[in-house]
Amino acid sequence: MSSHAPPFWKHKSLGQMSSEEWESLCDGCAKCCLYRLEDEDTQEVYFTNVHCRLLDTCTGRCTDYANRSVRVPDCVTITPAVLQDPYWLPRTCAYRVLAEGRELARWHPLISGDPDSVVRAGLRVCDRTICEDDADELENHLVDWIE
Ligand code: SF4
Repeated sequence: MSSHAPPFWKHKSLGQMSSEEWESLCDGCAKCCLYRLEDEDTQEVYFTNVHCRLLDTCTGRCTDYANRSVRVPDCVTITPAVLQDPYWLPRTCAYRVLAEGRELARWHPLISGDPDSVVRAGLRVCDRTICEDDADELENHLVDWIE
């Protein structure tokens, strides 16, 4: 009999995960920290290269994660409820991947065991972004990030 239990994301639903498991799903790509434009009719989402002023561009993490919703009221806290329709997240985001019944990619830290595998895969947007404080119209900053 095998002693290897399946990893938590294989046998737990998003709503069953502990907070530690939940947080470990974030790979730090920082794409949800970018401003987006959305076509209200089609729900088509257009990403920009303009990042929230709270983003640490070196680590891809929020510099005030605990208070982000207060400091940035538009910041959407990702929960199982909002993942009912996760079209606004990048297709590579693990929360969206699992919500859509797909498999985590090989470069995801939970699979690779290495947080830097996200960077090597070219999926962390940092160093290719501009802070919202320095940006002009969002329409001038549309970027088709490779996913
Ligand atoms: S898009 Fe998803 S994986 Fe990327 S930083 Fe945001 S929550 Fe984490």
